[in-house]
Amino acid sequence: MSHLDSYGVFGNPIAHSLSPQIHSAFAKQTGQAISYRAIKAPVDGFAQSALCFFQQGGLGANVTLPFKLDAFRLADRLSNRAKLAGAVNTLTVQDGQILGDNTDGAGLVFDLQRHLEDLTAATVLLIGAGGAARGAIGALFEAGVAHVFLSNRTMSKADSLVQDFSALGSLSVVSVNEVANISADIVINSTSSSLSGNLPELPPAIFNKAKLSYDMFYQKEPTTFLRWAAQHNTEQQLVDGLGMLVAQAAKSFQIWTGFEPKIQPVMDQIRAQMA
Ligand code: NDP
Repeated sequence: MSHLDSYGVFGNPIAHSLSPQIHSAFAKQTGQAISYRAIKAPVDGFAQSALCFFQQGGLGANVTLPFKLDAFRLADRLSNRAKLAGAVNTLTVQDGQILGDNTDGAGLVFDLQRHLEDLTAATVLLIGAGGAARGAIGALFEAGVAHVFLSNRTMSKADSLVQDFSALGSLSVVSVNEVANISADIVINSTSSSLSGNLPELPPAIFNKAKLSYDMFYQKEPTTFLRWAAQHNTEQQLVDGLGMLVAQAAKSFQIWTGFEPKIQPVMDQIRAQMA
């Protein structure tokens, strides 16, 4: 029997994860012999599941909801961006240690740069202050954005993000009353509102000057947030989070194998499969 390097993605639920398809496509493209499977860990049993996987020869794993914080705690060593995000989506076994990294922000920036060549000097409205927002902020500043306005249903969470990230760049919380006046170039929804078909409670004037609106959530049809954005500014680009998903996976694949897969063909393939 031929040996396959073993990888996987941990989550709960995990059955509908696209990651196995994405990583299989990367492996085929780069000629790597890997196995990659979706692993459902018990909600209170991530560490045990992951350690068992690594003891059985697993070389690396992606981590999705609700385990990114558990993965952060499990890692023996953390990358700077994982430390900053306070969350881990990529685990790698190296010299008997488990390394934790976070490729979500890099995936987001890669996808934004496919649509807007130059992010420098852009003003961003980032809606949401959960794990995905924490992963995004450092990468946005690294890409050179001028200012990030943060808006979140629970203001105190947005305040604590400003405390954690303001050393990296120009970052401020914006209230619902002020948000209509900020004229953001890029509006990013990092809330999970679209998952349940809801919208963040914000005025549609947030889209007035937008060149691009982005929903980190993705599905077959346009998301609730992107449909709303389209109604209020027909000039802007509308992008969902599938590109971010494929791009963050590509960064993980590169960490594990050293090979940098081409992202666009895999994105096209997954989009076609979803349809
Ligand atoms: P968290 O649970 O950590 O955070 C959820 C955020 O959404 C909080 O800011 C919460 O606000 C807000 N929220 C939830 N429901 C509503 C609502 N109805 N109205 C307004 N705000 C709401 O989740 P994550 O940050 O991990 O994930 C957020 C989204 O990003 C998910 O849809 C996820 O699928 C997506 N994602 C996509 C990725 C990709 O690769 N495309 C990668 C990572 C995440 P409050 O603080 O007030 O509760």
